[in-house]
Amino acid sequence: MASMAVSVLVSEPVKGNHLPRLYDERHLSPLLKKRLALRQLKQIHAKLLRGGLNQDVVLVTKMVGACAVSGAMDYAYLLFRGTQHPDLVLCNAMLKGYTQNGFMKEALHFYVHVLEGGFFFPDQYTLPYVFKACAALLAVTAGRAVHAMSVKSGLAGDAFVGNSLVDFYAKCGDVDSALCAFCRIEEPNPISWNILIGSFVSSGDMVSARKLFDEMPERDVASWNTMLSGYAKAGDLVEARRVFEQMPERNLVSWNAMIAAYAQNGKGEHALMVFSQMVGSSVSPGVATMLTVMSIVSNMSNSDNVNWVVDLAARSEFANSVSILTAIVNLHAKFGRIDDAYRVFSGIHDKDTVCYNAMIGGFTQNQEPSRALELFRRMQSEAIEPDAMTMVSVLSACAQLGALGLGEWVHNYVERNGIPMDVYLGTALVDMYARCGDVDSSWRVFIKMPQRDVATWNAMIRGLAMHGHGNGALQLFLQMEIEGYSPNYITFVALLSACSHEGLVSHGFSIFNSMKAKYGIMPGIEHYGCMVDLLGRAKHLAEAREFIEKMPIEPDSAIWAALLSACRFHQNLELAKEATEKLIALNPSHDGNYVLLSNIYAKAGKWEDVARMRESMRSQGVRKTPGCSAVEIGDSVYEFTAGDRSHPQWAEIYAKWNELAKQLKPMGYSPDTGTVLRGILDEEEKEQALYRHSEKLAVSFALITTKPGTPIRIVKNLRICVDCHRAFELISLLLGREITIRDRNRFHHFREGHCSCRGYW
Ligand code: ZN
Ligand code: ZN
Repeated sequence: MASMAVSVLVSEPVKGNHLPRLYDERHLSPLLKKRLALRQLKQIHAKLLRGGLNQDVVLVTKMVGACAVSGAMDYAYLLFRGTQHPDLVLCNAMLKGYTQNGFMKEALHFYVHVLEGGFFFPDQYTLPYVFKACAALLAVTAGRAVHAMSVKSGLAGDAFVGNSLVDFYAKCGDVDSALCAFCRIEEPNPISWNILIGSFVSSGDMVSARKLFDEMPERDVASWNTMLSGYAKAGDLVEARRVFEQMPERNLVSWNAMIAAYAQNGKGEHALMVFSQMVGSSVSPGVATMLTVMSIVSNMSNSDNVNWVVDLAARSEFANSVSILTAIVNLHAKFGRIDDAYRVFSGIHDKDTVCYNAMIGGFTQNQEPSRALELFRRMQSEAIEPDAMTMVSVLSACAQLGALGLGEWVHNYVERNGIPMDVYLGTALVDMYARCGDVDSSWRVFIKMPQRDVATWNAMIRGLAMHGHGNGALQLFLQMEIEGYSPNYITFVALLSACSHEGLVSHGFSIFNSMKAKYGIMPGIEHYGCMVDLLGRAKHLAEAREFIEKMPIEPDSAIWAALLSACRFHQNLELAKEATEKLIALNPSHDGNYVLLSNIYAKAGKWEDVARMRESMRSQGVRKTPGCSAVEIGDSVYEFTAGDRSHPQWAEIYAKWNELAKQLKPMGYSPDTGTVLRGILDEEEKEQALYRHSEKLAVSFALITTKPGTPIRIVKNLRICVDCHRAFELISLLLGREITIRDRNRFHHFREGHCSCRGYW
């Protein structure tokens, strides 16, 4: 028998297994300190079993330690149960493993059933784990019971136990008991003091914290840091700064705390000054420092600090960290440097969801929805999981493009993949449907949302107003107030535009006047714009002019444009001329204004003025903003610019429009060449120029590629012109097609020969 046992032992290494002879503790120890897979742990355990060493408590304790490092506490418990004679050291190792891995309930359970069960008496190493678990679970009663036991056994005076007890009471918010426990510690060390000071700091009692800090025999850098963050949290930046200046030495935590203190209290400039001081000091910024600083810079109104901060991040030791690079992408995107953002993004090796979100969001914020969607497709092809934030950006891109089909697909995707419908995602859906012309679906999403915030209500109110459901919008506002939400700046823009669409002049005025009086919101330029629009639509042109005169803020181009629209509609040439001149003065490079003024002069027969206008356009070097229209067909969005010949089917598209124009002529369509600058082109050229408007190309393309009866949805970057508007009214009648156009200002739903805007835009 003996010889057989020997042969088993000897044969082990011969089997080609290169593990050292595991029966030797000296060999085993270094191996068990590494993070191991469960499979490896089992292998080692098997070796112990075969070597007959599975009951060696010292080895089992080391195995439990290895399980803890590897996160395999269930297996550790099996090992523990298999040990016939466990000791306190093994029990402590179990407790340590549970707390290290955040299994606080298991730790407490283990303590109650195994230790208190009468097997062992806890020592000064046991109790800190127990108090730590009680603190994390806020298990006050259990903690107090263990405390009482520790007093009886004389362990409470030990600094190690005492500190954990002070910490337990501090975390449970019981500052008085923390102080009592502190007083029982025979020789409190700096850690004891710091924990106690920290407990006063977290309860917001800076006076007591200060008193203790002053009494403290030996302060270390952690003590100073605790006071610094305490003052910062209390919003007392002067004291925080004083502590920062007085500290004998500063570590990374101190610098981070001072920078964060300024940042959280809206003092970005001060935070940056501290940061530049840090750069010149002996402490190098950490990842957290760089992330904070980049977020400060991105919240500033100007991009002055972007370059040096980005340079610094790029030269730092973590220049390749994904989180730093993502922050740089965000920063560039925030300030419209979308190509810089993309260059950094392209250089990131292991792109994750957050990283994609930054870039997709960047494209969306910079009005590049097509690039946002393209990148989203790439994200999918690379099998990177999108999250709710990705979906919010993608929906916003769909809204910008008017890509309803794609927006619906995203909605479906969210539901299919169980992406939680939070308030942001829900709001993005409401907004997407409204801006893509499907306000009914907006409403369906809105009523199903379990949670809403003011942005959700705003999106729905704006959606209703935008689609001409002014009364619905006002009703919804009442509901919003009943449900206890306070309106904000944007709510009132939506409400006033609703009044404007419905021609509710006096109601509009009462809302406008209530803004400051009832809600404490100062009307801004957008609200004044809505009021001018409201008055202008209702043909109160003189009042609108007077309203502008009395405005406390300088009128911007949107205000004059609103007045001009009203003048054009109600044929007031004199006022139109004034409005246009103001517009040109505010924005001399915008071609549309010259065209409008030129048309006004032409209508009044003032040909000399027309010529003067032409000359001034030439001398100013005014270039036309190219009109651009997007149409969604299937799951693709096609973009057309005026006179575009880049599409492979361009000849077919142009032929389609020529054919349509012929069919429309007997219905009363004559190309309104008045919208093209007079005197520059001859009549035939003008007609041709009109035919190449981007929205006409988009409609023609949709007509040749979709089945009869399919609604056509178009988004245009400029305002739709009179000629296209008239033509689309007739097409909707002639072909029985619904055409929806979202132009820069509003929606036009063309159906059976009429438009929802009733000719006013
Ligand atoms: Zn047009
Ligand atoms: Zn219209």
